[in-house]
Amino acid sequence: LRNIINAKPKNIEKIYSMGSNEVHALKGLTINFRKNEFVAVLGPSGCGKTTLLNIIGGLDKYTSGDLIIEGTSTKKYKDSDWDIYRNHRIGFVFQSYNLIPHQSVLENVELALTISGLEKSERIEKAKIALDKVGLEGLYNKKPNQLSGGQCQRVAIARALVNEPDILLADEPTGALDTVTSVQIMDLIKEIAKERLVIMVTHNPELADKYATRIVKLLDGEISSDSNPYTDELEEKQSTEKVTKTKMSFWTAFKLSGRNLLSKFKRTLMVGLAGSIGIIGISLVLALSSGIRNYINTMQEDMLSGNPIKIEETAFDLNVLSDSMSDSEKVEIVIKNGVVNVSKLLETLAERAAMVQSIIVSNEITQDYIDYLLEMPEELLEELFFDYGVSMSPSIYTDLSDGVSSETKMTSLTTVSSIYKSILDETKFKDSSAFVSTLAKGFSQSINNTDYLLTQYDLLDGEIADEADELMLVVNDDQQINDLTLINLGFYSQKDMFEIAEKAFDSEREYVQKTEFSFEELYAKKFMWHPNSVIYTQNPLTKTFSHNTIVSTSSEESLELRIVGVLKPKDNLTYGTLSNGFYYTPALVEYARKCNKNSDIVNYLVEKDAEGFGLIDAVRYTYEYIVNGETKMKTDSISGGSLFASGNMITLSIANLGGSDLATSISIYPTNFEDKEQVLAYLDAWNDDGDIVVNGKTITKDERARITYTDPLSLVISMVNTMIDVVTTALIAFTAISLVVSTVMISIITYVSVVERIKEIGVIRSLGGRKKDVARLFNAETFIIGLAAGLLGIGITYLISIIANIIIGGITGIYTLVALPVYQAIIMVVISISLTLISGLFPSRAAANMDPVNALRSE
Ligand code: ADP
Ligand code: MG
Repeated sequence: LRNIINAKPKNIEKIYSMGSNEVHALKGLTINFRKNEFVAVLGPSGCGKTTLLNIIGGLDKYTSGDLIIEGTSTKKYKDSDWDIYRNHRIGFVFQSYNLIPHQSVLENVELALTISGLEKSERIEKAKIALDKVGLEGLYNKKPNQLSGGQCQRVAIARALVNEPDILLADEPTGALDTVTSVQIMDLIKEIAKERLVIMVTHNPELADKYATRIVKLLDGEISSDSNPYTDELEEKQSTEKVTKTKMSFWTAFKLSGRNLLSKFKRTLMVGLAGSIGIIGISLVLALSSGIRNYINTMQEDMLSGNPIKIEETAFDLNVLSDSMSDSEKVEIVIKNGVVNVSKLLETLAERAAMVQSIIVSNEITQDYIDYLLEMPEELLEELFFDYGVSMSPSIYTDLSDGVSSETKMTSLTTVSSIYKSILDETKFKDSSAFVSTLAKGFSQSINNTDYLLTQYDLLDGEIADEADELMLVVNDDQQINDLTLINLGFYSQKDMFEIAEKAFDSEREYVQKTEFSFEELYAKKFMWHPNSVIYTQNPLTKTFSHNTIVSTSSEESLELRIVGVLKPKDNLTYGTLSNGFYYTPALVEYARKCNKNSDIVNYLVEKDAEGFGLIDAVRYTYEYIVNGETKMKTDSISGGSLFASGNMITLSIANLGGSDLATSISIYPTNFEDKEQVLAYLDAWNDDGDIVVNGKTITKDERARITYTDPLSLVISMVNTMIDVVTTALIAFTAISLVVSTVMISIITYVSVVERIKEIGVIRSLGGRKKDVARLFNAETFIIGLAAGLLGIGITYLISIIANIIIGGITGIYTLVALPVYQAIIMVVISISLTLISGLFPSRAAANMDPVNALRSE
């Protein structure tokens, strides 16, 4: 015999109050049970049988009196004491079985053990033993709706017994069964009663007579007869046995809820979808916003390489402009009859001119400033480009052929430009020859950073030019370079040039233009760089210099230049450091400055400058060109590499001739946009108060001239970013409404779910489940829904993003305009879970606080 406890109702009264009505379900009932007997409780409907059973089982609370358990009063029992009592001492069997429909037979039985917090393996083992005992071996995985009524009741009995309770309480267990099945169940219960106390409510007197050892009749909440009363004078000794607390982990609740949700998969999916709408809305806005931002950022980085921060000898101070705009006040104009008002145009012009003057600031770039720039943290910069204002085209010579005779002549690029402009003048291009020739590009200076160039350009062939005698070609996306540029570098003969220009206006003309050059042909072309001593000759009488258009001798310092590589912009590059054209290296500029610093022409100009004459000399040169086989001659002058009509005297500066020690223009290429801010801060520091230390030398504020740099990109970009911020915030505010709506919806759906599962809540409580367990069950459910909604939302957002990107990409060529960052996706899932958890908090608390008796009675 088991160590059975003793439960003894003593003078129990139970009053149900329904509004003003009071129902006395039990009217001071006292009864004493033996540790081991089979008690049948009989009585008419409504006499209080169920109420008595529920009170003995600790499911319902008595209004007055006491329930003595093991000789101990339960008046001071707390919720947790009752939970433990139900879980470990009591087994309930109901008329309507109260099985949980979405769980298998085994899981239904396991539930009682789950609540006690047993390990999975132990649970399964015990549940199987209990099921075997009631004759259900092999039906473990069936669902309740696959079983007959008798089998269901056996499952319910197995569940009641699995925790080995001291008392089995059965409320009309055969009430819903046919006679044959009823007898089988009664046999089973009788068997069970052999080793414990069984109290069974029935309204079938025959069954009671046949099986019970004691029959108690109830009438109107009182005992009307008792076939075998028991008066126990000896008080039971206090139980020393400690029972463990019931416990159900959140994980278990999570699994139970997960299974419930899976059983209603379609509905869960719908709820998830409904909940995900708000998430999708906000995620899409975020995706678009960060996609656009990313695009602008990459464009920025691109544009950064094409639009460096510049410091030049003259700059525009745009602050003056914005200041003057805010200052300007409008003069009130009075319109009178019979007069004409005079507007002061001259005065306005004078004001404008003064303003323009103040906008233009001149920068004094000193060695200190250059040293200061050179001390800038290296990691902030891709490239610091110093332009010394050296004009290369007078110094570089190409082998130009006239296309008539077989000889080639090394002609300076400046001269080549002049020759072709003159030839154009003889063609239908006459009127626009000056303009057309400016479209040709000569050589430009490349930058000194091979790695940086390789991030922007693919090397089609050869290598990146970095030595003084190396040149390179940058082609466009279609691997092109225009004919005008090639002509200006001597790749076509003068005759070809003439024919090409004529053919442009006369398609009938018999001439086929060469349309491609192999890399080998490009590399084969020879260019010479000559020092000033070779290219400028001084007139001993006038002391003025002239430029030698054609040279055949070279000095020791002369350099032979060759094209060593061909570069093409990478596919995603919008703005590169180098545009399409031919490039020489900074090393060549360095070399040129070294060779020319003390050349005659430089010294002459420096001298004149010192005497105060100013640099008013232009260098004249005379050249020949051939049109239609006829040789013509012309004289021009050079200045700063540009070409001017003959007779136009323009300054040729010392810097142009390679005689300057200081850069005339500095371009700063920051590594990226964040570093750019630091670079600007560094540049601003020069203009701020306080001392600056350069090269260990302290320079006070007074010793520093203000330097104004130009940064055209920043203004536009910051404006665009502000705009995106505003639009994003507005859109999120709108879509947040849908998030609120879906949250409310989930709250309602959770509430409906609570209503649907009232029976289950009752069962869990009758098995000893705590209020907390019930709350956990629903919190777990809303957690899963929130997670599902969040993941669905994110999944759908990414799906829409892909489709949207394909469509947008088809139109604009930009395929990443909608891109939700992973961290934002995670935040959205967290928000979804939090919102549904909060929305489910009220329904889950309502479920937890539900009266278990009412819960079980509900249909
Ligand atoms: P029985 O099981 O003998 O048919 P019950 O114990 O279920 O009777 O009910 C006893 C009396 O208490 C009945 O009159 C019933 O209407 C009333 N009663 C039971 N539960 C409640 C309740 N939750 N609220 C109000 N009245 C109740
Ligand atoms: Mg009843």
